[in-house]
Amino acid sequence: MAKQDLKFNSKTIHGGQKPDAAYGAVMPPIYQTSTYAQSTPGGHKGFEYSRSANPTRTALENALASIENGAYGLAFGSGLAAIDAVIKLLNPGDEVISTNDLYGGSYRLFKQVFEKFGITFHFMGMQDVEQIAKKVNDNTKLIWVETPTNPMMNIIDIKAISHLAKKHGLLLAVDNTFATPYLQRPLDLGADIVMHSATKYLGGHSDVVVGALVVKDKDLADKLYFIQNASGAVCGPMDSFLTLRGIKTLHVRMQRHCENGKAIAAYLTDHPKIGKVYWPGLEDHPNHDIAKAQMDDFGGMISFVPHGSSYDDAIKIVEKLQVFTLAESLGGVESLAGHPASMTHASIPKEEREKSGVVDALIRLSVGIEDVDDLIADLQQAIG
Ligand SMILES: *Cc1c(COP(=O)(O)O)cnc(C)c1O
Repeated sequence: MAKQDLKFNSKTIHGGQKPDAAYGAVMPPIYQTSTYAQSTPGGHKGFEYSRSANPTRTALENALASIENGAYGLAFGSGLAAIDAVIKLLNPGDEVISTNDLYGGSYRLFKQVFEKFGITFHFMGMQDVEQIAKKVNDNTKLIWVETPTNPMMNIIDIKAISHLAKKHGLLLAVDNTFATPYLQRPLDLGADIVMHSATKYLGGHSDVVVGALVVKDKDLADKLYFIQNASGAVCGPMDSFLTLRGIKTLHVRMQRHCENGKAIAAYLTDHPKIGKVYWPGLEDHPNHDIAKAQMDDFGGMISFVPHGSSYDDAIKIVEKLQVFTLAESLGGVESLAGHPASMTHASIPKEEREKSGVVDALIRLSVGIEDVDDLIADLQQAIG
């Protein structure tokens, strides 16, 4: 069976991979080298200089392309470096439409780095495609989607937006960090570019900072490869190796993240001291129907608001947690808890934050793959 025909749970392990050419190593060696010997000028074995290409990074890039059902993968030094490369496809005067509850680092990159180069960004709720259509003008070149969003877990209909993008000849990029290709495959839904902070679920062990892009189109891949090489924010061989190793267990980790997420969402929903619970698998989630259509399961990211709690009460809960670690980031095997109002979203004015639901008492969980009984017992002792 050709490797490209494998099912997802095999692609994570075999997709785009072959034993190393030198000695048949099953895992690609960590080619910790900057340069490669040439027999005559230009006479090399496909690698000249490791900014342009490195065999360990190439192995990761092939795996990325395979799991996202794309044709070309590109690995970067961080998720933000990957986003940076996409925006560099644009020119001064171009406009981008994006979601209003975007990852804070993406927002900062758009507003504080790229706006001064003459690119304009519009941020809006993306539930209603007609509203997005109204924002499109002759300068619009790119729609940037993130779904589920952070930390409110809103779900955006990728297929509906891809129809709009195609109609107007716009690029559609989807930040697939929260869902991973285990849950949704944006290229299959009509997106042009998939982006990952592989720092999160793809790496999966909280031990690397890596970014990724995957595309189907050769021309687009060439342009992004040019930028990757010209700007130089590549992923190193050691981090490529670790991310590739992480991807090999993505499906089994994600299955457990989803199971544990479901159990904890149910526990929190039934808890008398908890008000709102945001998890796309809950039937009363405002975008549950889109989530059901677009995603294969609902993931391990959950936000919740303790009943009538204040900023201080939320802080007390996150401080009391023992199995959940209070930390930024997400997607690792270990469970993490965060307080968006004082951590990830602290730089957004309170009024702005609260408009999108990020109230002072909101707590965000990245549910790990520990025994779910231990996770629930930990929440129980912290919430009381
Ligand atoms: C973390 C994150 C990023 C940024 O990725 P880095 O690897 O930290 O640069 C972008 N988007 C989302 C949704 C993220 O969670």
